[in-house]
Amino acid sequence: MSKLIATAAIRGANKLVAQAETMLEKAINEKGKDYVFEFPDTAFHLPMIYAMTAFPVKTLGDMKVGLGFAKELLHDEPEEHIWKPYLGEALDSGMATLFAEEIILALRYISGLEPCKDPETGYVYNGFISDTIQRNLGIQLVDGTMPGFAAIIGAAPSDDIAVTIVRELQEKNILTFLSGQYKGDSVTKQLLRKGVQLGWDTRIVPLGPDTEHTLYALDWAIRASLIFGGKKPGDFKEHLKYQKDRVFAFAIVLGELDDIKWTTGAGAINMGFPAIGDTDIPVIHPTGVCTYEEVDKEFDHSKIAQKAIEMRGLKITVEKPPIPVAYGPAFEGERIRKEDTFIEFGGQRTAAFEWVRMRELDEIEDNKIIVIGENWQQRYEAGGQMPLGILIEVAGRKMQKDFESVIERKIHSNINEAQGIWHMGQRDINWVRISNAAKKEGFTLEHLGILNATMTHHRFRSIVDKVQVTLYVDEKDVKGRLDEARIAYRERDLRLGSLTDEAVDTFYSCLLCQSFAPSHVCVITPERLGLCGAYNWLDGKAAFEIDPTGGNQPITKGECLDPKFGRYTGADEYLKKATGGAVETLNLYTIMENPMTSCGCFECIIAIIPEANGVMIVNRGFTGMTPIGMKFSTLAGTVGGGAQTPGFMGVGVNFISSKKFLYGDGGLKRIVWMPKGLKERIAEDFRKTEEAAGVPGLLDKIADETICEDSEKLLEFLTQVGHPALSMDPMI
Ligand code: SF4
Ligand code: ZN
Repeated sequence: MSKLIATAAIRGANKLVAQAETMLEKAINEKGKDYVFEFPDTAFHLPMIYAMTAFPVKTLGDMKVGLGFAKELLHDEPEEHIWKPYLGEALDSGMATLFAEEIILALRYISGLEPCKDPETGYVYNGFISDTIQRNLGIQLVDGTMPGFAAIIGAAPSDDIAVTIVRELQEKNILTFLSGQYKGDSVTKQLLRKGVQLGWDTRIVPLGPDTEHTLYALDWAIRASLIFGGKKPGDFKEHLKYQKDRVFAFAIVLGELDDIKWTTGAGAINMGFPAIGDTDIPVIHPTGVCTYEEVDKEFDHSKIAQKAIEMRGLKITVEKPPIPVAYGPAFEGERIRKEDTFIEFGGQRTAAFEWVRMRELDEIEDNKIIVIGENWQQRYEAGGQMPLGILIEVAGRKMQKDFESVIERKIHSNINEAQGIWHMGQRDINWVRISNAAKKEGFTLEHLGILNATMTHHRFRSIVDKVQVTLYVDEKDVKGRLDEARIAYRERDLRLGSLTDEAVDTFYSCLLCQSFAPSHVCVITPERLGLCGAYNWLDGKAAFEIDPTGGNQPITKGECLDPKFGRYTGADEYLKKATGGAVETLNLYTIMENPMTSCGCFECIIAIIPEANGVMIVNRGFTGMTPIGMKFSTLAGTVGGGAQTPGFMGVGVNFISSKKFLYGDGGLKRIVWMPKGLKERIAEDFRKTEEAAGVPGLLDKIADETICEDSEKLLEFLTQVGHPALSMDPMI
């Protein structure tokens, strides 16, 4: 039986390589071998070929070289013999297939055929996955909110079954890619027919209608070892090991398999990703270092997702509050349009706020939900708009006043993760919508309280012993409480402003990204948040209280060896240990000498521009050119992987407005270029810091892409506006 698979895989690979060759010849005839191609927004060329062989495919001529590698891996179809000798040949063929598919898809991009559009529905598939998306999601991969990826290939026996399988994966927070078809139908089409929201926001990403499009998912996987793992291109053994050990992907194949599915599957198995089918396929048992079945079957569609998850060895615990709708991070990005809204609160339409307040243990009753307002049931039932004040009171032996804001910031996820409920904003500018669909499922006002109580307990277990939620729905109550809340917000902001690196004796580490970038540690101080932007010093402090053996550990500051550069004995000692000696010493406030390492999920990159005697900052998501002649994606490729790279550094957006921003290099005054969007995003905070630094109006002297994209024009502009960097000490 297994020989059949090997034969199919080998046959499929031969077919695809031949197809790629024909297409390539045609393209070279039409456009010439020097025709340049790159997938949208990536620094890794054709990522699979690049990771495996170190060869950067940049032109059609280069594709010929790439295809040559594939050809070397091809084998003749076996005639008889026993199975074993063919295992290696099938795996070789799998890799040849991935190379050929990558070239085929690149050529389709050149012809304008990618990303694919479904002729019947007009739906546009995702196509190639950009580096930006990969980095955006990096943090969810490491902190466990996204425990793995599934690739579903083919079509389910019915639309309802397709929905059931995908919903189960969503509830388990698995990112799901869809590709391929079976008998003219596909899971993408099935979900579209059922009105399921597709896309990155809901974690269901249709890549394309053919089996070959699965390669986009594998191209995304392989970039994890390049971006986060710091694995060198060409070090294929290391890449494959990284994939097997750290990238938790698996495939679910619905419907019969043809040669192309088998050979693509062989490619995926090569990367350590098992597959499960719903037809009578041969089971392939573990080989070599693999500890799980590589191919298995499950005819019961209600069990297939769970079985796949177990095959890949994923342990997933999901906390679901007792509410009548589905719940999980996969629903967080769901949008609720006006016409789908049953009732809404806040959003400048009605008075509203949300506020977390610390109480004594005997002052509140655990899990009690109180709704205060006249006829509130009837008013809720009528829909429309309503005032809403959400007061969450928490008490606990390890609770601290400082954690109020940390807990409050989670209200956004608490509410948004419920299917059909939507939340935006915070404090007194919040906005909540409940959809018609959720209302139909029986979602009540009290459920808003229940989910906040359950999730606050869950997320802050061991800090929070009791949670009580009060919902105010009368305008006078909301306004009255809001006055109190505003005083609390102000106190909190003052406290935050007084938290400086000098004022504390403990920093916190964040080790979450070590699962992907083993030598990376974020050192989080009151004035410098983690480079992904998701964790600040208070988060680190709270996380350590919650889980003393978790990913955030206290770092005793120790002696300050250099206040200007921010060097502390405690941080150095800690880093030496936590990076296994890879990082010996760290300067917190400079990029020039022993700067912080970068994993890959940085929100921004700072890079030196020597001729301007300053630095530029470019944010993830900005796809244009920068004055140093590199786009974000290219630059990011040189910064990540857990290494210290003087002159370059990844940082979180909020660090830019910190008083400690490049303090040792001269601070804010060094910034000479930033994308316009980033300038606008940080303007409010930046204005305060520039004022305090004695350079009011600095932001207006910083160039952006509308002013220049090269260093010559940049210098002209800086001279014209009299930018302070030009008269500062030389950076180098
Ligand atoms: Fe990764 Fe640093 Fe963010 Fe932690 S704070 S998740 S280590 S980038
Ligand atoms: Zn990271």
